[in-house]
Amino acid sequence: MVDRSDVVVVGGGVMGACLALHLLEAGVRDVRLLERDGLFQGTSGAGGGFLAPWTTISPLHGAESEALPLERYALDFYRGLHESGYDIDYRRNGVLWIAASEAAWDQTQELMWLAADPDSVPVEPRRLPELTGGVVSAAGVHGAQLMPCGAQVTTIKVAKALEDRITKLGGIVDTRRPVTEIRVSGGRVTGVATPSGPVDAPVVVTAAGAWNNELLQPLGLFLPTVPQVTSRITTEPLGLPETLPVMMLQGLKPDEPGGGTVLWVRWHDGGLLWGGMYMTYPRNILVGAPVPDRLDELPTDGVLENLRVAEAAAFLPALSGKASISVKHGAPCYTPDDKALVGPMPQVDGLYVMGGDNELGVTHAPGLGKALADTIAHGRSDLADLAPWRPDRFGDRFPDQAATFVAVAESVGMLLIGDEYQPAASSGQGSA
Ligand SMILES: Cc1cc2nc3c(=O)[nH]c(=O)nc-3n(C[C@H](O)[C@H](O)[C@H](O)COP(=O)(O)OP(=O)(O)OC[C@H]3O[C@@H](n4cnc5c(N)ncnc54)[C@H](O)[C@@H]3O)c2cc1C
Repeated sequence: MVDRSDVVVVGGGVMGACLALHLLEAGVRDVRLLERDGLFQGTSGAGGGFLAPWTTISPLHGAESEALPLERYALDFYRGLHESGYDIDYRRNGVLWIAASEAAWDQTQELMWLAADPDSVPVEPRRLPELTGGVVSAAGVHGAQLMPCGAQVTTIKVAKALEDRITKLGGIVDTRRPVTEIRVSGGRVTGVATPSGPVDAPVVVTAAGAWNNELLQPLGLFLPTVPQVTSRITTEPLGLPETLPVMMLQGLKPDEPGGGTVLWVRWHDGGLLWGGMYMTYPRNILVGAPVPDRLDELPTDGVLENLRVAEAAAFLPALSGKASISVKHGAPCYTPDDKALVGPMPQVDGLYVMGGDNELGVTHAPGLGKALADTIAHGRSDLADLAPWRPDRFGDRFPDQAATFVAVAESVGMLLIGDEYQPAASSGQGSA
């Protein structure tokens, strides 16, 4: 028997699940989400779940960020799930940026605080113990800034909430069903093939994260993205208060370029969930290489690098001290201009993509999902015009991962650690 759907979404991460839900809410009747594994078993399960206007605060985009409506939508969307009774560990405790050195404080002041959140305020270090329930001390902190709108969720719990909503609206969540081929006839998509039979559909959306290019390659298509290994560390319960704000720690290693990795830290089950964007091996090992079905067994050198930086956070003993930890890896996909790739693939009628998350998929997926769902169902979206995210906006400038990698390295390097950033390709590790 052949399954039929109005829209097939390939990939049950946060991108695909948010799209499937919004398609149903936009009035599409037969929506089928096909996932090779379980929901959120790819990068989304590793996601830190930090929510804030991340692109708007970044000098790379700033107040002009086209993503600001999406970022505001996400904060409302997750709060809405929480208020509907879903347990997603939603907490709106704000984001507390802590600068451990004068140079880090100067960099912090370049962030677009008021554009991202008009209620943002500087915080004197002596107020930190009170603001954090005694978890952070003042000694060793040069300055801090609070952005109250920031919130947090636990991604794997979001998966359950989305699955429940999708199925209640009549959508089908088909897990353990990998797509082996996107089927095309006469320049039009006709559905997908799976080991348990084909699914016919006039519209197919690939939202397969780091595996998007594997699916598109047989059609001669390439999305200019590079997967970057990133890891999340969770400690054992440490008796910490759940009122703790999300924290970003900058300048922990004043003697290193850019002050060392910026660490992101939040409360989780009484302990800490944290990580950082390490620039060392194995960050680039998936660039130009096959992406394994599961990311569980990737090397942990980057985790060790983060632990080394965390040791310098003496003002946060729960982080700098010894605790039992567990680790989960993901492979966020970066684009040359730090914007996602969302919309139709003009080469094949009926084929759409949703990818290039730039490590912000948990924040951007609800809004991008709504904008794409509205566009598929009604030809336009009141939330956002998808033009800035068009997947074909680069033309043929980035035909492969090697070319894309150089552009991404330049973009990320400028944003994070200035001119001293060296792409791993030139150091011989995990090159494109
Ligand atoms: C350590 C870490 C911390 C992060 N922190 C944050 C954060 O605080 N805030 C934030 O906004 N973002 C964060 N992110 C980024 C966020 O997690 C990602 O942007 C997001 O999860 C990407 O979602 P996705 O749906 O594109 O990819 P995935 O979650 O990888 O989903 C793709 C899915 O497609 C499936 N698939 C692949 N091939 C096939 C096939 N052939 N057939 C069927 N299914 C297939 C995979 O199994 C997978 O489930 C973080 C990421 C990491 C790794």
